Amino acid sequence: MAIACRNCGTLQSAPAEARAGFVLNCACCRSELQRPAREDLVLALAASTLLLLVPANLLPFLSTSVAGVSRHSWLGSAATILWNEGWAWLGMAVGLFVVVLPPIRFALLTLVLGCLRTSARPPWLGRAFRYANLLQTWAMADVFLLALWVAHSRLAATISVSLGAGAFCFVLAGLGTIFTRAALDKGAIWEAIGPGRAAADAENATARGDDIACPACDLVLHAGCEGHHCPRCGAKVHARQPESISRAAALTLAGLILYAPANIYPIATLPIGFTPTAYTVIEGVHDLIQAGLFGLAFLVFCASFLIPMLKLAGISWLIFSVVRRSTRRLKTKTRLYSVVDEIGRWSMVDPFVIGCSVPVMQYNELISGRAEAGATAFAGVVILTIVAAQCFDPRLLWDAAGKAA
Ligand SMILES: [Zn+2]
Ligand SMILES: [Zn+2]
Repeated sequence: MAIACRNCGTLQSAPAEARAGFVLNCACCRSELQRPAREDLVLALAASTLLLLVPANLLPFLSTSVAGVSRHSWLGSAATILWNEGWAWLGMAVGLFVVVLPPIRFALLTLVLGCLRTSARPPWLGRAFRYANLLQTWAMADVFLLALWVAHSRLAATISVSLGAGAFCFVLAGLGTIFTRAALDKGAIWEAIGPGRAAADAENATARGDDIACPACDLVLHAGCEGHHCPRCGAKVHARQPESISRAAALTLAGLILYAPANIYPIATLPIGFTPTAYTVIEGVHDLIQAGLFGLAFLVFCASFLIPMLKLAGISWLIFSVVRRSTRRLKTKTRLYSVVDEIGRWSMVDPFVIGCSVPVMQYNELISGRAEAGATAFAGVVILTIVAAQCFDPRLLWDAAGKAA
């Protein structure tokens, strides 16, 4: 059967019996092409995560109390309070990534896997799975889980704070998100949705040099399909992502411009020992160290400071390599791209910590929390770099090197 590597574009053949139970790696760049199939496990995980997200949204989330007075929040409070305080963009981003998109992603996954389990093949199946995969980056229940941990530790240093029933359900749903992601083998599910490689192989025993792969489902198609919709998932097929370099460069530049205000201005004001304290990204890490939370300080330092910086530098390096037709370290660059694409979303942890803490810190002038201007700029950097990484087509690195050679 023919497989196209999504990282370097190499077309290769794999024996048909290498289907289930094996990990396949690209012969050229060593990226993972396929992993063992575990559809039933993924269906169970996706359905439980979907069910847990319902009480997570409806039951009380966090409670704090000071001298007999208490405040409660819901999961949605993170978005509404930011919106009400005038941070509309930040409130919308948090609401979308935490409240709206996770249930949509898991409803789509449960639907697709349920259909496959019962051997139903409705015509919209491929499209539904494509949308579920599209939301993998943006449904951030797992990132919010880390934020809840940071917020809880940070609040507990000042006042008494307890998790509500909704937060317990959310913790389980967040773990479900992580496990689903780890167990999901998209290749096997695309194969089951069909018409897959097996059907294509019947007419075309081995891959031909000018074949192209669908950008969404990796189905290998004839070169004549360029610009048409993929028969399996409905995505528009292009041999390489259109305008990849100019789009990625423009978004990276915008991210670089926002990077300065995101780090110079405070992102939030929260009380530390009953003194309202405005903190920047790096001061937030310093506060965690002073509170003795070294592990969390390290995690937040990586997610909020190191990752955005490495992402901006990394994508810039990849863009320059393509433009200069560099032939050096192609495997390292391909691996760097995979890492940048994978970890970028974890930088949303700081805006989420603000969303978690602010709703339960509304007491008086001394014990109050609010977001500050830096938070919007910071979320902007994170979102721009995620989209920049998605626009960048790593196969161009190999194309450019090939042309130079
Ligand atoms: Zn490859
Ligand atoms: Zn497709």
